[in-house]
Amino acid sequence: MTAAAPDSATSTAPVLSIVAPAYNEARNIAPFVAAIIPALEKIGETFEVIFVNDGSRDETLGLLAAAAAQDPRIKVVSLARNFGKDVALSAGLAHATGAAVVPIDCDLQHPPELIAEFVKLWRAGNDMVIGVRSKRDEETWFRRQLSQRYYKFMRRMTSVEIPPNAGDFRLIDRKIVNVINQMPERHRFMKGIFAWPGFKTASVDFVANPRANDGSKWSFWKLWRFGLDGLFSFSTAPLKIWTYVGVLTAFGAFIYLAITLVQKLVYGIAVPGYASLLVLLLFFNSLSLISNGIQGEYIGRIFEEVKRRPLYVVGQTIGFAATPDTSRAAQSGQP
Ligand code: UDP
Ligand code: MG
Repeated sequence: MTAAAPDSATSTAPVLSIVAPAYNEARNIAPFVAAIIPALEKIGETFEVIFVNDGSRDETLGLLAAAAAQDPRIKVVSLARNFGKDVALSAGLAHATGAAVVPIDCDLQHPPELIAEFVKLWRAGNDMVIGVRSKRDEETWFRRQLSQRYYKFMRRMTSVEIPPNAGDFRLIDRKIVNVINQMPERHRFMKGIFAWPGFKTASVDFVANPRANDGSKWSFWKLWRFGLDGLFSFSTAPLKIWTYVGVLTAFGAFIYLAITLVQKLVYGIAVPGYASLLVLLLFFNSLSLISNGIQGEYIGRIFEEVKRRPLYVVGQTIGFAATPDTSRAAQSGQP
């Protein structure tokens, strides 16, 4: 059995910690609680459900507080503002005490019955059990293609194996959670962060439900930024490639120089060459703009990291026995 006692936990630590980030989910809280509690009770392990209120502007927090008042197994971490799903998830992981942690969306897109399957595979010796979306009916062909290409590309560019179609819905053993809690980066590309520690991994296919209420909060621009985040957070290849591009273009320029010299000296052609000059000028200027931009992406990340701000700010917690340490900076012992 892989279940190891969490080092920060008391004797009351549950076996399972469910972590559900919630941002403006007022309409989904009640149906979600009604679905997840019976599903967990059926598994027969002790559990806690930690909601992370990610600075919702609707009644989400009030509804969560009411749910926590009715059931001592429900706990709430309320962030001081909207920090984004990945940071909310990180906050939940830091507050979870279970021997295994299961992040799940509270919009009912992730079927709670699957958790029993996760636990079975975990008991069988896997440290990470990933829920893999097998069908994505809701999405357009274009988006599907894009995401497939993206994962193929990522696999080439980085050394971590990020499984395609795997989201945040998964079971994570305590020893991996402890590693993730120590990963200090501000850019929380969770797919990459989950994959980085390694360990024994299994997967379970599932069909994602359509969103229970409201549409997805992902715009195309957000997805694009998300994709770039993954690339720039887990690979430095885009930085290094410019050396080779430079060498190649310098080589090309050298050959072109030789050609013009021969034309001038041997054939006496005075090249008019305005168009070719302009094209080359524009081409190389745009190359250096692109490489500058890519360096900017990394410099921006370095800037974010060196500020060493805490990852999130907890406004309020509900249902926790003793208030856990809420500041990541304090946890990782940074000055
Ligand atoms: N979420 C969050 N903060 C945000 C955006 C979303 O905590 O800034 C939560 C949201 O409440 C939901 C989960 O993250 O439980 C997934 O969000 P969504 O359904 O919008 O994303 P998708 O299912 O399209 O990945
Ligand atoms: Mg969703």
